[in-house]
Amino acid sequence: MEKRLRLAPSPTGLFHIGTARTALFNWLYAQKISGKFLIRIEDTDFLRSKSEYTKNILEGLKWLGLKWDEEPIKQSERTSIHKKYIKELLESGAAYRCFTTEDEIYELREEQKKKGLPPKHDNRHRNLSTKEIEAFISQGRTSVIRFKIDEKIQISWADQIRGEIKWQGKDLGGDLVLSRRATGYEIGDPLYNLAVVVDDNYMNITHVVRGEDHISNTAKQILIYEALDFKLPNFSHTPLILNSEGKKLSKRDCVTSIDEFRNMGYLPEALANYMAFLGWSPKSAESEILSLDEISEIFDLSDINKAGAKFSWEKLNWINSQYIKNMESIKLVKIIWRYWDDMGWEPPSQEWAIKLAILLRDSMTLLKDAIDQSKPFFLLPPIQKEGQDFLNNKDSKESLKLILNYLIEQKTVKLDKEKAKEIINEISKMHNFKKGILMKSLRVAFFGCLSGPDLMQSWELFSESKSDISRIQRCLVID
Ligand code: GLU
Repeated sequence: MEKRLRLAPSPTGLFHIGTARTALFNWLYAQKISGKFLIRIEDTDFLRSKSEYTKNILEGLKWLGLKWDEEPIKQSERTSIHKKYIKELLESGAAYRCFTTEDEIYELREEQKKKGLPPKHDNRHRNLSTKEIEAFISQGRTSVIRFKIDEKIQISWADQIRGEIKWQGKDLGGDLVLSRRATGYEIGDPLYNLAVVVDDNYMNITHVVRGEDHISNTAKQILIYEALDFKLPNFSHTPLILNSEGKKLSKRDCVTSIDEFRNMGYLPEALANYMAFLGWSPKSAESEILSLDEISEIFDLSDINKAGAKFSWEKLNWINSQYIKNMESIKLVKIIWRYWDDMGWEPPSQEWAIKLAILLRDSMTLLKDAIDQSKPFFLLPPIQKEGQDFLNNKDSKESLKLILNYLIEQKTVKLDKEKAKEIINEISKMHNFKKGILMKSLRVAFFGCLSGPDLMQSWELFSESKSDISRIQRCLVID
């Protein structure tokens, strides 16, 4: 039998990292077992669902490299089918009309609160006679459809992550509401637990992998599966992503949507790699830097932890920096070039741009770091205090003069990093000048401070962009 997994996001917000990680686990397991990965957009909350969020989720999945196998299904287009099944449950006696008003429910809750009890419906309309139903309808009362939950029943399933999970019928909050309020004998809009079961069955889903916040829903859904005589899928519940304080990662933790990670300069491969290890501990993995294909080969649901997974910026940053370091230079330049375009900076040549990208990538954590780090190669940086202090030293200016004279006298046409080294060595020998001073002075001339990337390689770039001489000269006119 074909193995089929799915992601069933509600498009009520931007693509969240929690949903993305659920997608990733589903995708990885689908690859591992040669199954299919499908998408169902659960857009039945008409007030909160937006097509722009659906677009954002699908784009985010594509960006992360999580391709789906069939055209996504929209839950809102299947409402009449959901209603058909609700009708079937009504007719079989597994469900019934409940006319409890909002006020009555409020009163019931208040009473329960006073007694310190959790909210639970008292199933007061489970056994209404036809006459009582007619009477409520003629009073103009609206009704929801409730699914009967046997208080004494015990529900259990073999969760592929958590082992056997048991749930008592009495702990499910009373008979389950399947549809929103409607007038007369109408059936209102179907709700999540019913729609999910009908759609997972329709899509022939064999494995449901979702967040642990759905565990109690699974217990309810199993009862609906049984009442409709549907085949049960395997269920697995993944751990939540936690912030540094051990609480569920939320908007308050600053960044939670995939778009934001993208805009901050994380690479999709790095983010996907990081997310895979967020709650998954493989028995054997030679490295933590693995492509999705490599991960899918060793991935198993049973290696997902039960405990929540702490989100770590440090680890994500480290993984991202590894991907930047190992990226093909042409690909990196293409990305960085877009930032340069945005800043209005024009590299003198493509080779120069590639050399600069290679020079900077070892010290980059985020793609966006390329902006700050390449800035001194495009714009003349101001001389900072430490640079100025260094230039105040007589030897510094002297060493810059020597370098300048050398460049002018020798008319060095092509200066590469080897030639740059030679120049420093020669001047140092000829004038008995410490190499350190020569190099530090040059660094101040180029970068305005005493830190920065490899000096000889930088000189090659400044020489090619014809700005080395002018940078040295400007230091010589400063008092
Ligand atoms: N729409 C639900 C959610 O986003 C789906 C849960 C499920 O996978 O069944 O939480």
